[in-house]
Amino acid sequence: MTHRPCDDCLAPTDCADMVTLEDGNHVCPSCELDDRRKHGSPYDRGGADSYYGRPYAPHYWPEGTYNGYPVSHKDMTTAQVKEYYKGFHDNESAGNFKDWGDE
Ligand SMILES: [Zn+2]
Repeated sequence: MTHRPCDDCLAPTDCADMVTLEDGNHVCPSCELDDRRKHGSPYDRGGADSYYGRPYAPHYWPEGTYNGYPVSHKDMTTAQVKEYYKGFHDNESAGNFKDWGDE
């Protein structure tokens, strides 16, 4: 068994904790979480929809928010919909909403 460091932060991590991403990168759990929550990810979009008071509508942007095309609910995996749900509800419970001011 080889002990390969994390491809992102290069931290030497125990093999058992390492995760292989879709792009083949071998990363530690904290980098894997960052990757799942980067801009455009289901988690990120769920949080943004909640923040802006938009309706709950799972989607994500594989190439980053507003780059390329969004993937809609019907084309998402269950895991991705769960990430969106988590992003949305984490923000709801944090009560982090945009202040639209008095218009
Ligand atoms: Zn790492």
